[in-house]
Amino acid sequence: MTLNPEQVEQIRQQFLAQIEKFPEDQREQLKQQIINATSEQLEAAMGPREGKEEECLFCGIANGTVATMKVYEDNSVVAFLDITPSVAGQVIVIPKEHQQFIFQISDQTLWNLFKVVKMLEPLIVNITKAGGLSIFISQGNAAGQHFKHLAINMVPRADGDNASFHWPRNEVKKEDLEDAAKFIKDGIDKMVTEEKARMEKLMKERHKVESKPAEKIQELPRRAA
Ligand SMILES: [Zn+2]
Repeated sequence: MTLNPEQVEQIRQQFLAQIEKFPEDQREQLKQQIINATSEQLEAAMGPREGKEEECLFCGIANGTVATMKVYEDNSVVAFLDITPSVAGQVIVIPKEHQQFIFQISDQTLWNLFKVVKMLEPLIVNITKAGGLSIFISQGNAAGQHFKHLAINMVPRADGDNASFHWPRNEVKKEDLEDAAKFIKDGIDKMVTEEKARMEKLMKERHKVESKPAEKIQELPRRAA
């Protein structure tokens, strides 16, 4: 499904209307995310469509309906051999949950994914006798993401191999760099401030519960001897 600009705007407005019901502390951050989201991100945020997971190769691998050479599996993560690798031993690590973008994945699952990457890294280098390892994640069509399911590719590298990870290197104005840095830093500051306020509110609520005097425990009636 490719969305036209009107549909994209319509979805954006629907999401903005939905978050009005959210707690105030979460609303502002979500609002910014929705306003800045690309059409692809909005489509992904709509969640899996009917039958979509059955069509997804990585979901098939995760749930075992597609045969593959798994090298690791737990409740939230699967790692398997790339069947068209540069050398045998190239691995793809995916979350079991069908999500396209990093921002959609829970912190816990991201933690689990990278724990698996950390565990695999020396093993892949040893088995492939690689001189190095490129670890890449494509996000979106323009980045060459073929399946709309997050995947971490672990590609063994050697001096003089033909793997290409080039992008055009352009001279840009210092002001443009400064603007970009400011935009990102301000966004991070805002997120950190909101997260801090959220945590403080949580701590206050917890403190209120803990400092509430315990209700008197009624003495149980003694059983007759
Ligand atoms: Zn999937």
